[in-house]
Amino acid sequence: MMVRHQLKSRGIRDTRLLEAMGNVPRHVFVPREYVDQAYADGPLPIGGGQTISQPFMVAWMTELLTLTGQEKILEVGTGSGYQAAILSLLADRIFSIERSRELAAQARERLRWLGYGNVEVIEGDGSQGYPEGAPYDGIIVTAGAPDIPRPLLEQLAEVGRLVIPVGGSGMQMLVLAQRRGDEFPTRELGSCAFVPLLGRYGWSGRGDGRSRGGRL
Ligand code: SAM
Repeated sequence: MMVRHQLKSRGIRDTRLLEAMGNVPRHVFVPREYVDQAYADGPLPIGGGQTISQPFMVAWMTELLTLTGQEKILEVGTGSGYQAAILSLLADRIFSIERSRELAAQARERLRWLGYGNVEVIEGDGSQGYPEGAPYDGIIVTAGAPDIPRPLLEQLAEVGRLVIPVGGSGMQMLVLAQRRGDEFPTRELGSCAFVPLLGRYGWSGRGDGRSRGGRL
């Protein structure tokens, strides 16, 4: 149902991705009180003002990474761990970084319990990337940034892809950047609405709206 009505009907074509979206048990990633809405066409609260993203948004951003199964991927914003579980079925190795200690611990345990063994959940500020695992063939940011954080571009492998919502704290533009040597050509793909990316290269955690990112 979800795959046919929400994903195929909106143009998601990657058959491996559609299969992964059909296989990952989304209801395990949502709080108990939302289990009956787990496969609905929207984001859901996961506590602490954070959300598990709409299934279509997960699929769209994942498809933009053009995964073949060989890649090393960084996800910024683990949240529930659902996006990481999808990536785990489509790429070789996943690093997923989350600033909330509680969410990181819950997602780590959930992913371990479900057997997604190629995902490493790290607690930290993902606006700075995760240099320990770099370079990455793909980086996916599941929170809205004021600008593209420079460290994320620097941690991309050659022809590596970065998918990131960029814009205001309410609405953003989904941006795809690809490394070509020292150049990072970008494409704007459509609007989206994510919770803010906090941290050093995101929206300031102090709520004063300042960021230290550099717009390309
Ligand atoms: N991908 C998640 C999923 O599948 O459930 C949804 C992510 S939720 C929309 C955004 C997440 O980004 C929140 O869990 C939030 O705590 C996290 N976040 C915000 N700023 C961050 C930062 N600088 N580093 C790491 N995580 C961050």
